[in-house]
Parts: sequence; structure tokens; C-alpha cells
Amino acid sequence: MKIVRAEELGFCYGVARAAEMVESLIEENKKIYILGMLIHNPVYLEHIHQKGVITVEEEDFLNEKVIIPEGSTVVLRAHGARKHLMDKLSNMNVQKVDTTCPYVTKSIMVKLREEENKDVIYIGDKNHPEVKAVLSYGKPIPVVQNLEELKNGNFDTNKEYSFVIQKTFDNIKFDEIKSYATKTFKSATFKDDLCGATYERQEAISMLAKEVDVVIVIGGNMSSNTQKLYKISKGLNENSYLIGESKEIDKNWFINKKSVGISAGASTPEYLIDEVEEKIRELVI
Ligand code: SF4
Repeated sequence: MKIVRAEELGFCYGVARAAEMVESLIEENKKIYILGMLIHNPVYLEHIHQKGVITVEEEDFLNEKVIIPEGSTVVLRAHGARKHLMDKLSNMNVQKVDTTCPYVTKSIMVKLREEENKDVIYIGDKNHPEVKAVLSYGKPIPVVQNLEELKNGNFDTNKEYSFVIQKTFDNIKFDEIKSYATKTFKSATFKDDLCGATYERQEAISMLAKEVDVVIVIGGNMSSNTQKLYKISKGLNENSYLIGESKEIDKNWFINKKSVGISAGASTPEYLIDEVEEKIRELVI
């Protein structure tokens, strides 16, 4: 059996950085609280919870349903944290460890700079934690989630607009909006760009799914980018399977098959990918 990994798979830069920061805090034996899900991967979360890390819902912390003790270490996740959450932590006697991805921090800086002189429109999914974090800084600005919302938003076509974008926004929807805005408004500037991590993993699985007999996608059920990878793969290769970890592999998937491809979402750690590859070897080689 030939086993091939997708050219791009697993942790993106920002998630890998956040996980490394948490792992080194664990080694320092700190009492660690993470606000919100560090990573959309239940297997990985269970792994760090077993090492004593506690995940607290952001709303529970803000509403004081959960009290974080003085002297604790509080980790803010890679997607970024809302300003009022940061402010609340700054008034507490805790060690704040901000793992916000530098690309998200850049987005916040672009928003703040652009809105000083221009009308800014934000493109993104209102419910995404990154979007909530970015929008919590600076002035309230309009948000559009797709081209229809931009068309129906009563924006003045004679004005000059600057656009700020959710780093993980869908690249096809983004191209539609950019093309419309450039043609329609007196001026439309895009000072920031999408993060390539999601798109690169999608491109890689599109190629892989056509080359192999079976595709295994590894990732959490709550991870939207993992779900998207699985959907793309299933559309191109009927023998595609989505799993959270190696024990879910069924050896019947490989009967009369000669090759298997492996992909993983941006919140899937390397060790889970290695375990899956090892399990396939055990079953079929
Ligand atoms: S997807 Fe991109 S912007 Fe988001 S955390 Fe990963 S590297 Fe950062």
C-alpha cells in the first residue's frame, strides 16, 4: 500500500505557535487557564486537559460564572481576544499569555490605521472568533459576510472605502466581493490579504484526492476547515473518510486498494497524523 501525505496539512503557523506556547507553560508547571477553545480539536484539548490545563468559556469568565484565581496563567487563543476581555484581564493579578496569531494582530492594526482617514468595511463571518476579536478594537464598522450583503448595504458608490478581511475568509467569496467593489466604488482599497493556510490545504487535498484510492482526513468535528477538506475530498473521491484519531480507522476501507492519501485540518497536531500513518501501516503493509 502506498501512503501519501497531502503537500500541505495539519497545524497552520498560528495554531502551531499557540500550541508550542501552551506546551512550554505546561513544562513550567504553571496553573493554566485558556479562554475559549485553544484549538478546534477535541483530541488535542483532551491531551492538554489531562496535563492540568483548564478551558474556560469566554462568556463564563466575563459574566463571572467562572472565577480565575489570582496568580494563575491565562492564555488567550490564536484567533485573538476581544478588547473588553483583554481589559478585564489587565485589571487582574494574573499572568496573561497572548497567543494571538501575528496575522490577526496585523489585521487589527490595519483596521485601526485605515479607519483614521477612511470609511472601512469589514469582510468576514460575524460569528467567527477572529472577527469578534478584530471588530472589538477601534470604531464600530459595517460587516459584510458575502457579495449580496455588500450590494444590499446602501453603501455610497461615490465614496472611497478601505476593506479589512477575515484572514480565513472563503477565497472564492472574497474574489467576488473584491471584483465587485473595485468596479463599483469610486475607490476600494484592500490593505490586507487572506491567510494562505486554509486555501493551501484545500488545493493540496484537491490534487491528492484525484491521485489515490482512499483519502483519510484527520480533524475535529467542530473544525470548519477540516469539514471543508473532507467535503472537497468526498466530491472528488468517494472513498474519503473523516476521522478524529487513529482508532477510528476501519481496515475494510483498504480492501482491494493500492494507495491511501492523508490530509488534516489546520487544528490537527502532527502526532495525530503520525499515529494515523502508523496505524495504516500496521493494518495493511
Ligand atoms: S489560519 Fe492563518 S491567520 Fe488563522 S491562526 Fe492560522 S496562520 Fe494565523
